[in-house]
Order: sequence, then structure tokens, then C-alpha cells
Amino acid sequence: MSSTTTTREYFQNVWDSLATTFAGMRITGKYLMQKPITVQYPDERLPIPDRYRGIHYLEQEKCINCLACARACPIDCIEMDAIRHGKELEWVLFTLDYQKCMFCELCVYPCPKDCIHMGTEFAFVSFDRSEFNHDLLSYKGMSREARIRKREADIKKAEKEAAKAAAAAEKAAQEAADPETPEEPAS
Ligand code: SF4
Ligand code: SF4
Repeated sequence: MSSTTTTREYFQNVWDSLATTFAGMRITGKYLMQKPITVQYPDERLPIPDRYRGIHYLEQEKCINCLACARACPIDCIEMDAIRHGKELEWVLFTLDYQKCMFCELCVYPCPKDCIHMGTEFAFVSFDRSEFNHDLLSYKGMSREARIRKREADIKKAEKEAAKAAAAAEKAAQEAADPETPEEPAS
């Protein structure tokens, strides 16, 4: 190889290095002045569409424990338990097992009270499998309002029963005072 060729190659290499560096820096410079598009998850999040099927949430006050959602679930993810006190519910459990759930939303449509929904939250991170069995209840037992309604209903019921007992006692006293009163024919 001649020394002339070596010198030319040397300068060609220098030129190539500079040209490729400038080509790369031209692209860097183009984006340098633009607004960053990288989202710093989890501190930042992209907007999520309203119809996104994320983690469920329950409007517990509206729920009537009818089991329609649990029956509609094709893989039996939902379990619930509540004790009935007349019209009021004392909640024990309402769980959804995300180890099985396939986010199909079939549990949402049959709800007669429109109280189980799929939200926009999606983050699931845990080292413990049991944590994927989510409890959707926001409170256990009875709500404050339900307790008040139950107490009022109990008072009304007790008053009704007391009035009934008083009427029966009055009638018995009348019959005792006037033994001639003919007995009412049995209907
Ligand atoms: S989204 Fe589908 S799989 Fe998950 S609980 Fe609802 S019905 Fe079941
Ligand atoms: S279908 Fe709706 S009202 Fe019935 S138990 Fe499920 S969430 Fe509650």
C-alpha cells in the first residue's frame, strides 16, 4: 500500500467520522428543543380512555347482594357474603380474585343497580399472591346510614307490636268486664 493512498484513507476516515457524528447530532439537536415525549411512569401516566377495563370498584351503598354479577362471571372470580337485617345489609365480604379475572366486563352488565364498575386503575404489583384476591368493600358491617335506618325501623316495629298488644289487652279486659258480649264468629 502506497503512502499517498494511506494519507487519503486517513483523511477519508476523519471526514467520515465527522460526517456521521454531525448526522447523529443533527437528529439529537432536532429533538433537543422539542417537548419530551417520555412518560416518567409511575410518577406520570398517559391519559386512560373512559371505557378502559381496569380494576373493579363497587358502589357498596347501592349494592343489594343479589349475586347477579357473581353468577354472570364465567370463571367464578366473585365471592360475596352479607347478613340481611330486613332491608339493610351487614357486609361480610365481597372479593374478586384477579389471579383468575380476564377483565371481560361480563359481571358489570347484569347489575340491576349499576354499582359494580371497571375503573381505570391497572397497576398490580405484589410478591404475595393472596393480595390479588381484592376486597371491593369500602367498609365491613353496616353503614352508618343503614344502622340509623335499621334502628328507626326497629323502633317503628316495636311501637306497632306494643300497640297491637295494648289493643289485644284492651279487648280482653272488655270481654272480662262484660261476659255477655258474644264472641266474634271465627272467619
Ligand atoms: S371481568 Fe369477567 S372474569 Fe373478571 S370478574 Fe368480571 S366477569 Fe369475571
Ligand atoms: S349485581 Fe350489582 S347489586 Fe347485585 S350483587 Fe353484584 S354489584 Fe351488587
